[in-house]
Amino acid sequence: MTTSLKTKELIKGQIQKWDLATTNYAGLQKVKTKSIPMGGGSEIKVQFNPERMRSSAAKVDAKSIQERPCFLCEKNRPEVQEGIAYKDFTILINPFPIFPEHLTIPHNAHTLQLIAPHFKSMLDLAVELPEFTLFYNGPKCGASAPDHFHFQAGGKGFMPLEADFRSGQYAQLKHEKGGVELYSWKGYNRGIISMVSSNPKAIAKQFEEMHTHLTALQTEEIEPMLNVLAYHEFEHYVVHVFPRTLHRPACYFKEGEGQILISPASVDMGGVFITPRPEDYEKMTATDIADIFNQVCMSEQGCDQVLDALVGDV
Ligand SMILES: [Zn+2]
Repeated sequence: MTTSLKTKELIKGQIQKWDLATTNYAGLQKVKTKSIPMGGGSEIKVQFNPERMRSSAAKVDAKSIQERPCFLCEKNRPEVQEGIAYKDFTILINPFPIFPEHLTIPHNAHTLQLIAPHFKSMLDLAVELPEFTLFYNGPKCGASAPDHFHFQAGGKGFMPLEADFRSGQYAQLKHEKGGVELYSWKGYNRGIISMVSSNPKAIAKQFEEMHTHLTALQTEEIEPMLNVLAYHEFEHYVVHVFPRTLHRPACYFKEGEGQILISPASVDMGGVFITPRPEDYEKMTATDIADIFNQVCMSEQGCDQVLDALVGDV
């Protein structure tokens, strides 16, 4: 059986057998979602999802991490949680879903959340799971287990960014290098660098070079702050990189009415804002969203500069 078919079976079986998954996937059918039109013509979906509080409000400082048992290590996972082995990884169902089909894919070893050594595995998984978009949250960009390397995956078509990329309305081909098309985005409220290629080695090489450029901009970080989405369609790998400048926006830390509890990660970058509190879901406006992007993401101009540096056009 293919990994993709095994994964479908896993999801079905776990939702039936594992009470926590049964409850939370049933709950997902009742979550509220609304669409907010943004300047520039795009839309952001906002999802009210109280079960995501543990992720949005996760304490990811070194002390808190050290003091808790790692929930991604096999020895600490509940017995009822089954997995599918794929190379050095195990495909699991995420018991606190955002997507109707939501996976967590931890490495089998308890090893730090750093994308560089595992980027090729992300491409391989995108091929193995053709109905999913893979995503990676950096240790200071939404990962609630920064000490245990993992990807997540959610069903394709859920995040507006995928169709927005295909539409050609916002992303323009800026350069071609080493068999990879490099795209920059305009009028989309956040800086994104997108790469398309049929050749996994070529795209991995461009990612590595971009990673080096971003590292030079954030020498104080363990890796450059980023979120990454990757999927495989029409025989091509598509990778969207969101260079980040901040972990959590100012509104996260405010008290009282000014607070919006949002801790942006890949899914928010992909156009679905997750709000675990009802008051945030109700009050969130296009201005708030643009302001949050503005604080936590590299600008469109910043991404253009990274792309120019990548092709030596500076
Ligand atoms: Zn672990």
